[in-house]
Amino acid sequence: MKCPYCGFREDKVIDSRESEDGLQIRRRRECLRCEKRYTTYEEIEEKPLIVVKKDGRREKFMREKIFSGIQKACEKRPVSTEQISMIVDEIEQEFKQRFEKEVPSEDIGNLIVEKLRNLDEVAYVRFASVYRRFKDVSEFQKEVEKIRGESNAKQDK
Ligand SMILES: [Zn+2]
Repeated sequence: MKCPYCGFREDKVIDSRESEDGLQIRRRRECLRCEKRYTTYEEIEEKPLIVVKKDGRREKFMREKIFSGIQKACEKRPVSTEQISMIVDEIEQEFKQRFEKEVPSEDIGNLIVEKLRNLDEVAYVRFASVYRRFKDVSEFQKEVEKIRGESNAKQDK
């Protein structure tokens, strides 16, 4: 990287962080000659699948998020981790084929509902009933946690 102040080609990276959407890495660099600081931005070359949320915000497609959403719906059900992994794979593949790079989060939720329907009825109803109201996997997770918290509180009494 060439220093914008003196043109020297050696620097050290003093800070490195991902942008909020995870699509860019911002690095603070310090020139080894003039010691001035400057910022570079690196874009990830292979664009990941982007999820467009209901409110228009975009975020990286996160397997973990979908996985844990399905896992919560499948709690205490005869569904193995491998089966959940398989569903997540299928969902990811399907969207990579169907969309250039952006997927509405609603479509992801609907596809999860569809997959769960074939897998386990209870998990399907759990996911669908909560999801349909929220249309977003992360909101769904929060909701499930809230419901669980409430039922625990009732048991304590
Ligand atoms: Zn310099």
